[in-house]
Amino acid sequence: MFMEEKCPKCGAPLAEISETATGRKLQRCSKNIWNKETRQSEGCDYVKWLAIEPKTLDEKCPKCGAPLVLNVTRLGKKMKKCSTNVWNKETKKAEGCD
Ligand SMILES: [Zn+2]
Ligand SMILES: [Zn+2]
Repeated sequence: MFMEEKCPKCGAPLAEISETATGRKLQRCSKNIWNKETRQSEGCDYVKWLAIEPKTLDEKCPKCGAPLVLNVTRLGKKMKKCSTNVWNKETKKAEGCD
């Protein structure tokens, strides 16, 4: 899929790519080619990672009434989560509404 945006380095159209494995999206210059023989990319090396933004849903949490957000996990799975639910890195436990 080609985007309207142009590569800031060479002016070629950007291509948007989704990594099916992770669900992450990136924009890459369409002049960028992966050379299988040398295992290196050739041409323009512009690449921009797009952050997956959690989408706020039009649904409310049945427990606390806060809006639900749609999260995409690293494995590309979609799941609904209460927006008050946060991951505490120190305790490695989820806090807030479950
Ligand atoms: Zn380029
Ligand atoms: Zn909740």
